[in-house]
Amino acid sequence: MLKSAAQIEDLCRNLPQLGRLLESEPVGALLGRWPRDLVMEATRSVLDALRREALNGALDEAGLRERLEHLDLEISEHAQRMARPSLRRVINATGVVLQTNLGRAPLSKSALRNLMEVAAGYSNLELHLEAGKRGRRDAHAEELILRVLATRGARQVESGYAAMVVNNCAGATFLALNSLAEGGEVIVSRGELVEIGGGFRIPDILRKSGATLREVGTTNRTRIRDYESALTPETRLILRVHRSNFRMEGFTEQPTLDELVALGREAGVRVFEDQGTGCVLPLDQFAVREESSWVHSVASGAGLVSASGDKLLGGPQCGLLVGERPLIERLRTNPLARAFRPGKLTYAALESTLLAYLTGQEETLPTVRMIRTPGAELRNRCHALGDRLRGSSQFEVRVVPVRSVIGGGTTPGAALRGYGLALRHPLMSDEELSRALRKLDPPVVARTRRGQVLLDLRTVFPEEDETLAAQLIRLGTAA
Ligand SMILES: *Cc1c(COP(=O)(O)O)cnc(C)c1O
Repeated sequence: MLKSAAQIEDLCRNLPQLGRLLESEPVGALLGRWPRDLVMEATRSVLDALRREALNGALDEAGLRERLEHLDLEISEHAQRMARPSLRRVINATGVVLQTNLGRAPLSKSALRNLMEVAAGYSNLELHLEAGKRGRRDAHAEELILRVLATRGARQVESGYAAMVVNNCAGATFLALNSLAEGGEVIVSRGELVEIGGGFRIPDILRKSGATLREVGTTNRTRIRDYESALTPETRLILRVHRSNFRMEGFTEQPTLDELVALGREAGVRVFEDQGTGCVLPLDQFAVREESSWVHSVASGAGLVSASGDKLLGGPQCGLLVGERPLIERLRTNPLARAFRPGKLTYAALESTLLAYLTGQEETLPTVRMIRTPGAELRNRCHALGDRLRGSSQFEVRVVPVRSVIGGGTTPGAALRGYGLALRHPLMSDEELSRALRKLDPPVVARTRRGQVLLDLRTVFPEEDETLAAQLIRLGTAA
């Protein structure tokens, strides 16, 4: 609705003064709870927002009057938001298990317990307890990483191998290329010059590492001969990059990792694989085919392999490097290594995650449990939630079959069959409803599909069902 300049001015003149508001009874009462600066800041923000809305025509006089009536409430809510962290827990109802925007892998209870224990006090982060001497921080996780790989079949790590932890897989890959190939050449297939997401592009990383890229083959076909004829005395590494987030089908060809390793042995050149997913468990029983395995990559004899800690491994964000000891030593002694080292919280959570694999407790890792949740269990939870909503809200609710994905740049094209709740509200569009869901406390993030909002319970923790139900009922009756 268009308004004359005079009308707008009038609306703006009707806004209360900041000073007067602070002296008023309800806003003044907030000063008992929060410092004056914070209340003032909140009041100013709310007034500014109101003025903006009046100026761009979003508010008429009646609308403004109503807002002014509840101004103290609005200011109080704004102050509350200012007094809490911006990074918060949310309920993930998207069905994407490793949703990068939602923080990828949730940690297990035992990882959280260990993390709290270590974080709340002092720890032997860099102290060798037996010798009473200074130790290395990544000595902690190293043993466990190697044991997990050995027990799952990569036996050769039992001698002559080492492992190292950095902040993330992108950092691991960069550090590896910089330490092993700076000033030399790295051979990569044109089919693997990929962007992983968030601007992590292999050609850019290579250039920044100081190595020269030697592209071989074509986008869809690269043969072992292509690698062979690109070898020169300047070759430092053969790089293999797991394509992570897309799949190529049809007229394609790519040598196996074993073939690359054999070629490297002959030529005296190491193979480095950016494996990415850190997948330890077989996924084929979940209709996930051809997924690269961290264990297989290490077992194939690649000199060095990098992977993420917070993808299929189900641990904290970190980059895991496993390889022949002399190579890891070169990474450790790179002056840049210090810039990539993680904090103690990472080691605490990582060690507990790895221990879950070594003690037969993989099911306690939320990502593993979510991937393995049977459809029938999801259907039962959906019906329970649906029945509650039908009885006490205006929502139109249907239990529908859905396909969840693992995500996070893993298992492209694979789908997990499950059930979800399709919601419709008589007074809200799907977009409005999903916005309202994101405003709940905790916020609920969901997908929209054909005018409905879809809640996929695979990624909702069963212990969150109760909160979810209560929040939805509140929203569905209030709106
Ligand atoms: C995910 C992924 C990365 C990036 O990992 P971060 O831990 O997010 O840095 C790098 N390479 C591959 C192959 C990946 O799958």
